[in-house]
Amino acid sequence: MELKGKTLIVTGASSGIGAAAALLFAAEGAAVVLGARRGAELDRIAGQINQSNGRAVALAGDVREDGYAEALVALAESEYGGLDGAFNNAGIVGAMHPVPEMPAADWSDTIATNLTSAFHAARAQIPALRRRGGGGIVFTASFVGHSNGGLPGMGAYAASKAGMLGLVQALAAEHAAENIRVNALLPGGTVTEAMGEMDAETEAFIAGLHPMKRMASAREIAQAALFMLSDRASFMTGSPVPVDGGMSVRLV
Ligand code: NAD
Repeated sequence: MELKGKTLIVTGASSGIGAAAALLFAAEGAAVVLGARRGAELDRIAGQINQSNGRAVALAGDVREDGYAEALVALAESEYGGLDGAFNNAGIVGAMHPVPEMPAADWSDTIATNLTSAFHAARAQIPALRRRGGGGIVFTASFVGHSNGGLPGMGAYAASKAGMLGLVQALAAEHAAENIRVNALLPGGTVTEAMGEMDAETEAFIAGLHPMKRMASAREIAQAALFMLSDRASFMTGSPVPVDGGMSVRLV
């Protein structure tokens, strides 16, 4: 019961890392407010949690829209009386192109979904955490856009996730004295829908980039988010936390 008594927003909760986090946080005692685009999938996960004596509500929407972050906070406060933290995890790989061939619209969509959404989330969540006397925010960044994470065709994705690390540092510095902790989780390759329908050769190639020679499960990444949002991480803020099977120390 590492999260007992806490109310947490989880975005991208309809699949992959976010769905695993929603189930894990609820099992550890949190009331969870689930966000993502697909309402039916979100309702299914919220239903599963509520049937297991957990507490979950869901609201479908688009993280590119400012009002959606506000609506999730309002739901946390109306349903559970306040907000203690958020796992801002929704994101896309986006269209992959070498930069000279990248349509500006693809660039803008990836930046809006992965980075501007983080700004919207922080702007909505920090006042709610202040009202509660503190709390924690975790953003899902990536090994891409960090050490050892330069991959061809992923310029927009890498820039969006690297930008998020700068935002996390600024937010941590701005709000540390208010007992609000802000950190970034940097997963390595993780078996989720975002990885698409990979053929065996591509999967083996990506797994082989990791010194551990495999990809993570969504639950392994969610376990790290659980720690970062729990009181066990009470002195951690502004930290980029790789959970990547050794990718960030890869030599070749
Ligand atoms: P996924 O595709 O299974 O889940 C992505 C989630 O984000 C879904 O719930 C989707 O509905 C939601 N989402 C996407 N765009 C949205 C939008 N505009 N509005 C609302 N919700 C939206 O993928 P995943 O692997 O679980 O990805 C979760 C996060 O982890 C992403 O931020 C991704 O960049 C990051 N990440 C993934 C990997 C990996 O290898 N899978 C590695 C590093 C980082």
